Amino acid sequence: MYRVGVAGLIHETNTFSLTPTPLERFIEVDGFYPEMRSGEEIFRFKQGRYNIAVSGFLATADRLGFEIVPLVWCGAEPSKPISQEGFEYLIGLILDALKQSLPVDGLFLDLHGAMVYGDFQDGETEILRRVRQIVGDRPVVVSLDLHGNIAPESFELATAMVGYRTYPHVDGFENGERCAVLLHKILEGTPIYGAFRQLPFLMPSTTQPTTKEPASLLYDYLKQIEKSFDLLSATIMEGFPPSDMPDTGPSVFTYASEQRVAEQALEQLYEFILSKEHLFTCELLGWDEAVQRAIQLAKQKQGPVILVDVQDNPGGGSPSDTIWLLESLVRHRAENAAVGLIYDPEVAALAHQAGEGAWIEVDLGGKSLEGHYPFHGQFRVVKLWDGDFYGTGPMVKGRLLNFGKMAQLRVDGVSVVVSSVRMQALDRSFFRVVGVEPEKMSILAVKSANHYRADFGPIASEIINVEAPSAIVEDPCKIPYTRLREGVRLKGLGPVFRKAQGKEF
Ligand SMILES: [Zn+2]
Repeated sequence: MYRVGVAGLIHETNTFSLTPTPLERFIEVDGFYPEMRSGEEIFRFKQGRYNIAVSGFLATADRLGFEIVPLVWCGAEPSKPISQEGFEYLIGLILDALKQSLPVDGLFLDLHGAMVYGDFQDGETEILRRVRQIVGDRPVVVSLDLHGNIAPESFELATAMVGYRTYPHVDGFENGERCAVLLHKILEGTPIYGAFRQLPFLMPSTTQPTTKEPASLLYDYLKQIEKSFDLLSATIMEGFPPSDMPDTGPSVFTYASEQRVAEQALEQLYEFILSKEHLFTCELLGWDEAVQRAIQLAKQKQGPVILVDVQDNPGGGSPSDTIWLLESLVRHRAENAAVGLIYDPEVAALAHQAGEGAWIEVDLGGKSLEGHYPFHGQFRVVKLWDGDFYGTGPMVKGRLLNFGKMAQLRVDGVSVVVSSVRMQALDRSFFRVVGVEPEKMSILAVKSANHYRADFGPIASEIINVEAPSAIVEDPCKIPYTRLREGVRLKGLGPVFRKAQGKEF
């Protein structure tokens, strides 16, 4: 029986974000992520099928007969870099637990791939360096979100890295299964050789959903390549653009029992992706234009027109409280429209004080970004919620969630879902809990980039990606990078990044 250590430390870092990343967010429940779990508490991931890799790993480990050594697992929603002290504390917990559990035959790490801490340090590379110092040449298999920005050194340090294949991410559990099966093969003596390459262009996040072209083409091809070369594993990382790091961007990697095979498969995959590069461009509408278009379309269509506030996506580290779309919808007299989620615990508390049916005059949202302003107005408090509720869509199905005090506030023809927790609008239950029935709306404005597609995609009559200012800049050509590696194209066939001459970095 193989003794296998299990640990996790997950953070997608937006280096342009203004949202802080205090330690508590890793210790308490934070949006999508459960609270920190240590030792035996990790086995709670076996109760139900969490859409998180550690859950799938543990379920499969039982079947494969691993003796699991549970270490520490934690994760937090995307935001700015973790402080040096915070990182040291969290990695310290994992390393201490690991040292006390030696010897292990292998290690499973549930990581993200785009963690940045301290003064622009790559989180995963450092985690792997330190883990390697302890476990020596024992196999270390890593699960990654497909938004990882993977450094070559990180790839070298891991025995194998296995990435998600879906965005919206609905295969977290399956990815854990894939990792367990691969680790088992390695422990049984299957030789493993890897090949790795970074792509020379960035993929804007609106091009990344794997449910449609162009990204679906890549992931279909990935399966073909994996089969035809009989690979042990193959991954396409789409990368996480809002990160000012040298290794930001997509990468591909393959594993086979022979180096030559891994490299040949990698070359084919790489060339295929390059042949589709021209499709990875960026098309957004300004918020006023988008609202006017949505109002027109809503008159002709059955089912909601979805306005996607891609840049104020808290799932990418934005505040989820900008009011550009709300203001424009009210100004253009939109009817039967809803906006969500707007993060504003103060207003949620005021609504709860006032009670359902009351009118309140408040400054809503717009409180996080410099130069932005709240929406001042009179709202009717339509429905309130405070406490647990169940997610219903494919990403959080069956999970118990709690966003603190929530409210549906209405101004003219627009309903606003206000939340006390910063959370991406990725599930219809977030609206329904305060009485907004998403499928009955004419216009729905969601603060999300792509995860909303899992649950809102099937009811949308039309989807419009909106460019409204927030902490995320969707078009990589407009992102003020300084540390990106030289020569990367900023989108498909886009302009090339060059560091300013004579500037210090
Ligand atoms: Zn992701």
